[in-house]
Amino acid sequence: MTELAPQATRPSASRPLRQRAWQQAEETACRLFHTALHLKARDMTARTALRPALVLAPHADDETLGCGGLIALKRQAGTPVTVLMATDGSASHRYERTLQTSPDKLAALRETETRRACRRLGLDANSLYFLGFQDGSLEASERRLSAAILSSVAQMQPQEIYVCARSDGHPDHQALARAARQAVAACKGPVPVLYEYPVWSYDFRSWRRPGSNTAGFLHGTAAMLRAALAWRMFAVGIADLRVQKAHALAAHRSQLGLYDAEPHWSGLPERFLWHFHTRHELFRRIDRKELTP
Ligand SMILES: [Zn+2]
Repeated sequence: MTELAPQATRPSASRPLRQRAWQQAEETACRLFHTALHLKARDMTARTALRPALVLAPHADDETLGCGGLIALKRQAGTPVTVLMATDGSASHRYERTLQTSPDKLAALRETETRRACRRLGLDANSLYFLGFQDGSLEASERRLSAAILSSVAQMQPQEIYVCARSDGHPDHQALARAARQAVAACKGPVPVLYEYPVWSYDFRSWRRPGSNTAGFLHGTAAMLRAALAWRMFAVGIADLRVQKAHALAAHRSQLGLYDAEPHWSGLPERFLWHFHTRHELFRRIDRKELTP
């Protein structure tokens, strides 16, 4: 998934207790944000199960975190799903101090993990494509990304497209979300419905402003509140598919801190993973007027 860049140090970093209290407050805000989105969401489980879809993921594991239940639901119903993996995932642990694995080896490992995860979700091997953009480079590749999406749309004629949220605080996620909007805006013929799936939007760092804890927290919660009020949300029930989704996510061992060759690598924290082990997945519908900047 490629971790968010570490943020500038906060003034109270030397006071661990106070720092933990802020972290707790931010975590609570994220859970309230998630709950608010869920409360306003309209259920689309039955309707979406039969609609062919294209899933766009910036990094290996984003597809499972944000859409794993959705993919499994559709495949269970025999509905075609194609997954486009944008980056090679070679920079997921660039901030780690102990890095023995070369970028090429990491890219190969992440491709293997993604193939395994998608297989566990019921995806055919020939419905998974790796675009191979360098991890962290998508901002500079938006036009090519958009062209690749358009080409895939022309080929498979999906009724729905799913992409990570533009509000995710990661430049690759934001670039892919913009490219998806551009591609849908340029579609000739039947236009697929575009949905965004939040990933890093469930992490407070996507919303807070660098600087003091108080100012950052107030700014972050206000931005989350505005989003929760404005977004048009839909939910897909995945209670019966949670075990399958968890099994697929477990395939991404290198992102969960379980890669044997790098025993010191950090994995995604439990407080973050909580958002992806729920009985539903949430999607923001992007209306036509939002397609162009
Ligand atoms: Zn990611």
